[in-house]
Amino acid sequence: MKINVLGTGTSQGIPVIGCHCAVCRSNDPKDKRLRTSVLVRSDTTTIVIDVGPDFRQQMLREQIEQVDALLLTHEHNDHVSGLDDVRPYNFMTRRDMPVFGLERVLDELKVRFRYIFDDNPYPGAPRIKAIPLEPYLPFHVGDLQIVPLTIHHGSLDIFGYLFPHFVYLTDVKAIPDRSLELIKGIDVLIISALHHKPHHSHINLEEALHYIERIQPKSCYLTHMSHEMGLHASIQSTLPSQVSFAYDGLEINI
Ligand SMILES: [Zn+2]
Ligand SMILES: [Zn+2]
Ligand SMILES: [Zn+2]
Repeated sequence: MKINVLGTGTSQGIPVIGCHCAVCRSNDPKDKRLRTSVLVRSDTTTIVIDVGPDFRQQMLREQIEQVDALLLTHEHNDHVSGLDDVRPYNFMTRRDMPVFGLERVLDELKVRFRYIFDDNPYPGAPRIKAIPLEPYLPFHVGDLQIVPLTIHHGSLDIFGYLFPHFVYLTDVKAIPDRSLELIKGIDVLIISALHHKPHHSHINLEEALHYIERIQPKSCYLTHMSHEMGLHASIQSTLPSQVSFAYDGLEINI
């Protein structure tokens, strides 16, 4: 299995429009962060988790010609607003794109993308098959088994996704014990860490490191970072040895 990190930035992306901070002005490619998303691939199956506003750019950058399903963590715009760009995959495969997520999230898509779900959509509109998931109930896409895990994102309950040997948790504010128990000692953990200050709906770096301490993954990557986290090159050296800042384009082999 291979994980391809498509984007690692918070909702505004980095650089932030109009910002002149050191991170936003940095020439280091690792300081340029598109909106948070990952691609998970087995020999036969390709899945993308979240379709933010940079989805098209990410698929072009990584030359992804096959996507078997989209998994959604939650309904915030930086995780869904690229949905219209599934059309090339519809055209190539001549089938609906399966989109998995919480029922509440899929219902929200039907409001925000009403034209997709019209009884008579205009020709060329995206073709989506919305498939609701229950927390902790395993499901399959191709040869991959996946378990949706409940995590808390402020007052919102959202999904993380557990694969064999890999778990993806973004927009975390708290992880319930039931989910924690399922991921202890996992090989690879990707978890969000917004910046250094406290935030009402995201863990900061310190809180993320506390969770990592409890989960004890063999290796761990941080994602969904804001420009206030600091320069990749200077902040990476402050992390424990098994923890790294993820960056756009990072590939992890499992
Ligand atoms: Zn900035
Ligand atoms: Zn969010
Ligand atoms: Zn987000």
